[in-house]
Amino acid sequence: TEKSGAAAVDRNQQLFDRARQVIPGGVNSPVRAFRAVGGTPRFVQRAQGAYFWDANGKRHIDYIGSWGPMILGHGHPAVVEAVQKAVLEGFSFGAPTEREIELAEEILRLVPSMQMVRLVSSGTEAAMSAIRLARGATGRSKLIKFEGCYHGHADALLVKAGSGLATFGNPTSAGVPPEVVQHTLVLEYNNIQQLEEAFALHGDELACLMIEPIAGNMNFVRASVPFMQRCRELCTRHGALLVFDEVMSGFRVALGGAQSIYARAIPGFAPDISVLGKVIGGGMPLAAFGGPRSIMEQLAPLGPVYQAGTLSGNPVATACGLATLREIGKPGFFDALAARTRSLVDGLAGAAREAGVAFSADSEGGMFGFFLLDALPQNYGQVMKTDGPRFNKLFHGLLDRGVYIAPALYEAGFVSSAHSAQDIADTVAAASEVFRAG
Ligand code: PLP
Repeated sequence: TEKSGAAAVDRNQQLFDRARQVIPGGVNSPVRAFRAVGGTPRFVQRAQGAYFWDANGKRHIDYIGSWGPMILGHGHPAVVEAVQKAVLEGFSFGAPTEREIELAEEILRLVPSMQMVRLVSSGTEAAMSAIRLARGATGRSKLIKFEGCYHGHADALLVKAGSGLATFGNPTSAGVPPEVVQHTLVLEYNNIQQLEEAFALHGDELACLMIEPIAGNMNFVRASVPFMQRCRELCTRHGALLVFDEVMSGFRVALGGAQSIYARAIPGFAPDISVLGKVIGGGMPLAAFGGPRSIMEQLAPLGPVYQAGTLSGNPVATACGLATLREIGKPGFFDALAARTRSLVDGLAGAAREAGVAFSADSEGGMFGFFLLDALPQNYGQVMKTDGPRFNKLFHGLLDRGVYIAPALYEAGFVSSAHSAQDIADTVAAASEVFRAG
């Protein structure tokens, strides 16, 4: 029950202490450790619908949803049934199955810029493979990425901006040799002038430009339509491939991903390669990358670009993903999800306004972001102007009240179809209390 959250023995703390003995930082992915906000990570005991229960038995309204995949909420009956059936038929074969074709066909139906797709097991793997494919297909080495965009932890993508446009980036992680990132150019998001300068200097050496079209790793920042249009034009003119990392935005901001939104604003718009993950696995390890047939046929075994995986197209993961895509493809799903998400964002903005707290927020489909800033930021530098201690207070205030948002101010939030109007109202009421407490 809610009340047992105040149990004398803190099971979350006990588990965290035990975990730190055997797992670095006690976690298998760094942000889970609450390093930015401080305090004890909540160990999840079980989850259902919009909620999870932590090791103290306390219920939380979950706005992380495994960092995006759980668009139907936890334990959706149709998905559970599909997974149970698949498990009984076998876990992994390392041989092709009909379900992989079904999932590929479903993805291609929903994302028309792709004519072929390959399934892998994580977003990192998909983004890394897309870069290799872009380099292989163009015969070029250099690439552009943007500050604040995250594309997983492949070496070439762990880069921070260099000191000027003529210089390439520096590794953001120990263990990445500088020569491995010497081909990666890091630019400011939404900065058209910098983009034009970079293409003027390096355009004909660029294999690709990789971008999160709606960035979810610097909270929530949209690429402006003119900026995206310029990205497309410059890539086309210079023979570089436009790679959309839609690991987070795909099947999340709209059924056709962020690219469907830009295609409405820019006639004929499409990326060359798309990278997908999260929702397509419905919470199982599954990701994908795809594009036109001519590019995808560069991959082994047809072409010279090598890529492989023991668990790629895993039968249980594909069953989970397929069941998830079929649910979100039902008429009206995204309209309802978008309206619910907007009601959260509007409610939070109203609560902040009443309390006199600087606040701005945005959402698209089932993804949202909010900032303790007067205006929506356009790039990473502006996002990081958020008052960190103030965010941490808000985070812990909400956590105490059973509302679980990302434990870092540079992460987006996610609403699922399982979040009810009452869940949103409870969340806004909790935020209102925290805002008024100052
Ligand atoms: N690309 C984007 C946009 C992401 O948000 C993430 C993960 O958060 C990744 C790639 C990496 O995916 P994964 O964590 O599955 O390796």
